[in-house]
Amino acid sequence: MRPYGLPQEDGTGGAFKRGYGVVHCLLLDTGDGLALVDTGWGTRDCTDPTPAVRQFASIVHAALDPEETAVRQVCHLGYNPSDLKHIFLTHLHLDHAGGLPDFPQAIVHASASEIQAFLHPRTLVEWRAYRPEHRAYGPKWQAHTPQGSQWFGLESAPPIRIGETEIVFVPFVGHTRGHCAVAVRVGDRWLLHCGDAYGYCRQADPVQPYVHPSGRLVEWMVTTGFKLPRKHWLTLRRLQEEHGDLVSAFCTHDAHEFGIARRSNRAR
Ligand SMILES: [Zn+2]
Repeated sequence: MRPYGLPQEDGTGGAFKRGYGVVHCLLLDTGDGLALVDTGWGTRDCTDPTPAVRQFASIVHAALDPEETAVRQVCHLGYNPSDLKHIFLTHLHLDHAGGLPDFPQAIVHASASEIQAFLHPRTLVEWRAYRPEHRAYGPKWQAHTPQGSQWFGLESAPPIRIGETEIVFVPFVGHTRGHCAVAVRVGDRWLLHCGDAYGYCRQADPVQPYVHPSGRLVEWMVTTGFKLPRKHWLTLRRLQEEHGDLVSAFCTHDAHEFGIARRSNRAR
């Protein structure tokens, strides 16, 4: 994506300058089939986008390249799309759930209130950002209530175990009605996919929180326009401060964090 917005770590982006963003998804080998955390855009969004997808993609300058879809990348890794058994979604906005129809056999996990919002949109933003074409095939939903348990002192859903992998929905409501971060245990450490709880790494950085003036303006527009609660950034900063040795948090659209994740995958 090449949207106008916050200045990024790579020097791109600002109120009057295009930035560089990504749609960061996770592919997990659970030991009992593959699982995805968020799907990104789907094949149809790239090859035959509906007017709503085309409009959103042109605003954020999304590439909509079929080669970047999750299904194509799963195939390039030597898997069959039907090997993918579960999808965990931070939320169901079009740029996060567009790949659902590419994996019709997968069980789709999300918070109960997010699934409700997707099926019964109430506001103009919900009507635009939740796309009926992404659910027309009839997803196999599994709704989760993100409460009743604790994850590093934060309220969460009880852990879900798939094969050898533990997954926890941690609510960060605001960007959408049922937005959650998705925590994945990797050995004795955790990855925390924060979805759109923030959009730029320094917002959740305890050491160098964001101070750039044009970023402040865009931050204000984004937080009020999309109802992004700033308190989540403080929660995530505290989590990194207290448990940064055990938790690696990242958001969907930050290219800098995506680069770090790719490099650490290669190093393994
Ligand atoms: Zn997004």
